[in-house]
Amino acid sequence: MTTIKLYNTLSRQKEEFRPIDPERVRMYVCGPTVYDRAHLGNARPVVVFDVLYRLLRHAYGARHVTYVRNFTDVDDKINRRAADSGRDISEITAETMQWFLDDMRELGALEPDAMPRATAYVPQMVSMIEDLIARGHAYEAGGHVLFSVESYGEYGRLSGRSVEDMIAGARVEVAPYKKNPMDFVLWKPSGPDLPGWDSPWGRGRPGWHIECSAMSYELLGDSFDIHGGGNDLMFPHHENEIAQSRCAHPDASFAKYWMHNEMLQVEGRKMSKSLGNFFTVRDLLDRGVPGEVIRFVFLSTHYRKPMDWTAEKVREAEATLKKWATLIENSDAQSGPPLQVLHALEDDLNTPLAIKEMHKLAKDGNAVALRSALEFVGLGTISKESLTMLVEEMVDGAFDVGKFIEEMRTARENRNWAESDRIRDALVEAGVEIKITPEGIEHSITSRFDPTKLEALE
Ligand code: AMP
Ligand code: ZN
Repeated sequence: MTTIKLYNTLSRQKEEFRPIDPERVRMYVCGPTVYDRAHLGNARPVVVFDVLYRLLRHAYGARHVTYVRNFTDVDDKINRRAADSGRDISEITAETMQWFLDDMRELGALEPDAMPRATAYVPQMVSMIEDLIARGHAYEAGGHVLFSVESYGEYGRLSGRSVEDMIAGARVEVAPYKKNPMDFVLWKPSGPDLPGWDSPWGRGRPGWHIECSAMSYELLGDSFDIHGGGNDLMFPHHENEIAQSRCAHPDASFAKYWMHNEMLQVEGRKMSKSLGNFFTVRDLLDRGVPGEVIRFVFLSTHYRKPMDWTAEKVREAEATLKKWATLIENSDAQSGPPLQVLHALEDDLNTPLAIKEMHKLAKDGNAVALRSALEFVGLGTISKESLTMLVEEMVDGAFDVGKFIEEMRTARENRNWAESDRIRDALVEAGVEIKITPEGIEHSITSRFDPTKLEALE
């Protein structure tokens, strides 16, 4: 039997993974709120936990692993999107869920065994809230039901904060009906224009956190093995899930191992619309970046390290995968992954080490082992054909460089030299080399490319 070691946020240590029931290994991962296309950062937990899912299936047998990932399809961002667009909520959420599944499939992610939607579990949430009130952990006030953080002594343990520090440090929204400013919403009232369900507290809708407590209980039981998500969810979402679940089921442990992936950044900066470095997975796929290249770039950074998405890494990933695709073209896989790759993954999902081992296999010309390794990490679909993209073009496109070149060309056609110079100077400043030839404008992106500098052009 192999030993898997996982870093547990709860203990802040790497621990040997021992499932509560090896016949039924259970994992819950917080999924997306469905109102828009998944951005590149949203794909990181999907790929990270997909690698873990594959590893667990290998170690315990596919039939003995249950992976649940929810869809949050009730949320104020969704309500706003519906109000702004005049479309039905259910139409928006159904469309977004399908987009999500399509995009994640292209990244080689297996579908979880269950993908519950929050709106299908409202009665279970209501009954859990009733239970929390009955046990003295929640109270009704001003049409809301709130969880009382003071009623749970271990509140803050996962994220390592005390309730006092949180109150002192947080910009807590002061709601007159809260007994303690850190108390959080389990249920809130809905006006006639908002989605709502009948409940003992009137027509309303659930707060965000209760859905994961209710759905994990329903599908995995009161105690299960792994709970995952991005580290932005550690507080308050996961802290609140723990409080709700442990208080509703005091004899159970809830999740035993808590795992959090670090955030993804783009070219060293937080991804954001105003910086012009925000893109969705679909943006990249549409620009011809193969899903395997995106996956490979993700795997090249350990999941507990911040991941920097750069044009340089995309180029390298594409070159490596192209080489490997040629090497394995005519070989079959052996059964199971090569041991050195497996051992790397068993050590808290050390994907960068696994890739290093794969480079060694490639160097040794060991095509059979390399193919097996690629299949194991979800990259078995690479082929020379799928990797013949024009990386320059796709990188330009992702950062709108192409658009600015086009604008420069138009300006020159109109003999608007001042405008052409303005665009050229900004592009050069951002690290794009520009050459004007009789044939037109040639450009290339240098390694000091900084997309945020393109803001000046917007
Ligand atoms: P959300 O739809 O915002 O609830 O996010 C869905 C998942 O994506 C959660 O597990 C988040 O932690 C994760 N996530 C969001 N932004 C990023 C990012 N920039 N890098 C990595 N993971 C992210
Ligand atoms: Zn959750």
